[in-house]
Amino acid sequence: MSQSMIWTRVDYEKDGKQNGWLQLPHSVTRSAYGNVSIPLTVIKNGKGPTAFLMAGNHGDEYEGQVALCKLIQSLEPHHIQGRVIIIPAINLPAAMAGVRVSPIDQGNLNRSFPGDPNGTATYAIAHYIDTVLYPMADIHHDLHSGGSSLQYLPFASMRQSQDAALNARATSALKAFGAPIGLIWAYSPDSRLSSVAAVNRNLVALGGEFGGGGSVTSSGVRIVEQGLKNLLAHAGIIEASRAVGPYAGPSRLMEIKSRDYYVYAPEAGLFEPAVELGDTVRRGDVCGKVYFVDNPGRAPEPCYFEGDGMVICKRHFGRVERGDCVVHLATDVA
Ligand code: CA
Repeated sequence: MSQSMIWTRVDYEKDGKQNGWLQLPHSVTRSAYGNVSIPLTVIKNGKGPTAFLMAGNHGDEYEGQVALCKLIQSLEPHHIQGRVIIIPAINLPAAMAGVRVSPIDQGNLNRSFPGDPNGTATYAIAHYIDTVLYPMADIHHDLHSGGSSLQYLPFASMRQSQDAALNARATSALKAFGAPIGLIWAYSPDSRLSSVAAVNRNLVALGGEFGGGGSVTSSGVRIVEQGLKNLLAHAGIIEASRAVGPYAGPSRLMEIKSRDYYVYAPEAGLFEPAVELGDTVRRGDVCGKVYFVDNPGRAPEPCYFEGDGMVICKRHFGRVERGDCVVHLATDVA
């Protein structure tokens, strides 16, 4: 396969702190020889592990973007041993527009891995991550939130691989991150997610959903800020004394075992949920009802839970189309 067209003047091997850009060639009428300039910070001090931290994979998920901007402002080379690569807005066009997918090509970065150097902008970004950044890293965190359409009970997560030793390392990193909930995602090789590409490169791959509704929750930002310090200390990149703070676990470990954990809108209309985040429900309980404000004499259409569990995610918008996910559940790891 051909090489990435993305280039940078940042030297990944140089000690010190560099704030620069990944330059993604993007030739348009306004700018024939122009680039999309994706900000990148590399902080390095001697030998040691590399942590690659990114946010803005989905542009309308903000807690990670804020926390990584703050980390860039505060973290200095003398604080670390090894290397930290930080990209707060990896799908920059989406982040600048405040939307999930890129306005350039409608690309959903987290459905585009392992990418394509000859594809559109979003595929080119995925390919650069997979072929340049992942091979440099030992530990990876891709910080998400629910975005405009979903609200989450905040959690950190890990992606399972087919390698038991790697899974054990990732579980230990997830516990070290110390979020109130630690979600364990199953290995899903066909999903084209960043986390699957990362575990395929033998990285400890963490993620998480730290809020949603297209807003910035201060509690979610605090969980990310503290968790990243905990994680960098766990990796031996910063001293444990630099990671002291309110969130140090133990995380409640949870999982999502099947499609039965998800409830989808049965009809288009206005959805009234019957539950709140954190509620415990049983199979057969009413999840909510769809109302028809353009035909109010029609009986509302209920939908039901297909499994037992705790409500960890809810749709944010009131209007639904048939097939929209309105709620999903998680259960404690046995
Ligand atoms: Ca997301």
